[in-house]
Amino acid sequence: MTAHQVEQSPSSAGAPPCQDSWLRLGRAFPDLRIHHAAPRTGPDWTGAAALAGDRAALDAMIAFDERLGLDLYGTPTRPDVTAGFSLHRYAWPVALAFTLPWLLERRVPVLPVDRVSINRTTGELTADPAGFHCLPGDPAAGRPGALVVPDRPALDAALRTALAEHFAPLLDSFRPAVRRGPRTLWALVTDDVVDGLWYAAGLLGEEPPAVAALEALLTGDAAAAPFVGTPGFRGTAGARTRTRVSCCLYYTVRPAELCVSCPRAC
Ligand code: SF4
Repeated sequence: MTAHQVEQSPSSAGAPPCQDSWLRLGRAFPDLRIHHAAPRTGPDWTGAAALAGDRAALDAMIAFDERLGLDLYGTPTRPDVTAGFSLHRYAWPVALAFTLPWLLERRVPVLPVDRVSINRTTGELTADPAGFHCLPGDPAAGRPGALVVPDRPALDAALRTALAEHFAPLLDSFRPAVRRGPRTLWALVTDDVVDGLWYAAGLLGEEPPAVAALEALLTGDAAAAPFVGTPGFRGTAGARTRTRVSCCLYYTVRPAELCVSCPRAC
């Protein structure tokens, strides 16, 4: 199925905007299921608003990654590295809630922190958009919550703004535990925006348009702030790689292994 077919699918005419993209991801990648639903509470669920404003919720998520690190690596990870891994494991899936509808439906959900929750144990998210940006020709342009923008560059700008508004309070919350400056944390988010969509689009047969869209989105100049650098793609479809803008800190657990996208290796 192409991105165009998703927009035009009759079966999706009454579905909430953005939901088709999330369902399509869940079918291709069952490890991550995004539900169009209000934030959930209860065992294993954490609201993004709690991560941003409640130190106990943040500490509980980092403790989850302490246990995970022991399971994965057989040895404790450094506390600041554990917190960085925790932020990465939040940012990678949550960024997809924004970027997949942008790629597949030309829609950008508005998802401040009080509209998202995550279940790290099951690999689920809930997302309850407060509205959505779309282009003038979108069949949903007249629906409640539609925020029509004039053209594709404006939609890209809306995506950067929506992502930045979601992640800014979370980076403020994570920063003392990760012990990195704002630029490094935005570089981490930039890498997760790129890597998540690149990976998911590959599963969905949409890798070339995803690469082109990410290159237009993340230009590395002031217009793309607070995001850092460019996607750094190299090569062609089927043999493509990229250079990260942040260090993933994997060297702290496996000193001898280089990541494929390591900036030092380049
Ligand atoms: S391989 Fe590169 S990106 Fe990965 S941890 Fe080492 S220095 Fe960082």
